Amino acid sequence: GKGDVSRCVMKIDLDLFKEVNDTLGHDAGDRLLVHVADILRATTRKQDIVGRIGGDEFVILLDDPPSLAMIRSLAQRITVAVAQPVTLNHAQCRIGASIGYTLATSGDATADQMLIEADLALYEAKRAGRGQAFAYSDALATEIEMRRQLFREIREALAQDQFEVYVQPQVYTETGEVYGCEILARWRHPQRGIVPPATFIAAAEEAQLVDQIDRIAVEKGLDFLEHANAQGIDLPTISINASPPTLRDVHLTDRLLQEVHARHLTPAHLTVEVLESTLIENDDDLALHTIDALSRAGFKVVLDDFGTGYASMSNLSRLKLDGIKLDQSWVKPVPDPRADSIISALVTLSRSLNMSVVAEGVETPAHYACVASLGCDVVQGYTVAKPMPAGDFGDWYETYTNGHALRA
Ligand code: C2E
Ligand code: CA
Ligand code: CA
Repeated sequence: GKGDVSRCVMKIDLDLFKEVNDTLGHDAGDRLLVHVADILRATTRKQDIVGRIGGDEFVILLDDPPSLAMIRSLAQRITVAVAQPVTLNHAQCRIGASIGYTLATSGDATADQMLIEADLALYEAKRAGRGQAFAYSDALATEIEMRRQLFREIREALAQDQFEVYVQPQVYTETGEVYGCEILARWRHPQRGIVPPATFIAAAEEAQLVDQIDRIAVEKGLDFLEHANAQGIDLPTISINASPPTLRDVHLTDRLLQEVHARHLTPAHLTVEVLESTLIENDDDLALHTIDALSRAGFKVVLDDFGTGYASMSNLSRLKLDGIKLDQSWVKPVPDPRADSIISALVTLSRSLNMSVVAEGVETPAHYACVASLGCDVVQGYTVAKPMPAGDFGDWYETYTNGHALRA
């Protein structure tokens, strides 16, 4: 070699292999593995070692590779070749390969260490999506370790009951009356204080913990609603955010029914906010089924961040929804001739489909006046109130309704 790279360990993991095995049977799966092995042999040099180390995992050892560029190009050729469709049992199927690799520049890296590094790089490649190749680096290892640390902290925080809810009021544009509150998760960290969801929701989803956070939001949100009612505040509904795993839970509707009935509330007291991206990304039958069940049970379902995805219109036609939440990015530019026309058209469309429109991110009195005049039914945003601890809501409500009575 050129002396810069002395050895390379490349780990290859097949994408969608399990699906082929499950749908076409183990014979087809076996033939697919042979097919991949053929590709690996054809793309490597005679002296390279190719082995299968697990169900659908392969390893290539390259001693004295000619250059880093050659390794990159090898990874590229493998991902391209494996992604080509193959015919098995008269059915065309497509799989893919994700690759992680690591290089040793001196003789001191042990085989075990190199396999661990290739595995970390592979983990990152899988995380980035299918069909990608990633190289190991110390920075990558640090990043992965930091993420795992965050996973551990979130798990610990769940065990210590450190997740709380803030509530943000939503008001009718027509009467100014309070329509409800969105329930927003917060992490009360013993050292860092109140941590916003941007820091933990994505990590919780990756660690498969986000449904537990959603569950806490429902329980603490309904406790809050019950408490508000007991204080004589008539709060018609609370909105909670349902992450993709929550929506894929076939017991969700039953569980929510139990939660509302345990507090002598009705399903109408709970609005479930569903992200457009949930429905777009996986075209998720299970999620669509849950939405249907929720709505038949009497819960309200609204489409959150409306207008940020590509499938807004098709979602409106295939789902029975109670409303849309117009994303902040639509509200920010108003008043503006184009944005105003789009909002006004969406309001007309929603009316004809019997859906309400909530405008989100209403930050200024000018925003408020504009979206109200365009026909949005409800507003939520800093100009009405910022999200607040559930315990502060009573005082806010009193001040708000008094001020409102004075203005009226
Ligand atoms: P979202 O569902 O779109 O919630 C609205 C976000 O906009 C909230 O951010 C809120 O504080 C913020 N906001 C409200 N009014 C204004 C405004 O006038 N201007 C601006 N710039 N922002 C405003 P937050 O609380 O940081 O939550 C961020 C996201 O985290 C939420 O976005 C939601 O997607 C997610 N999230 C929050 N709680 C939960 C939860 O319990 N479960 C799940 N799965 N996701 C949650
Ligand atoms: Ca939301
Ligand atoms: Ca939103």
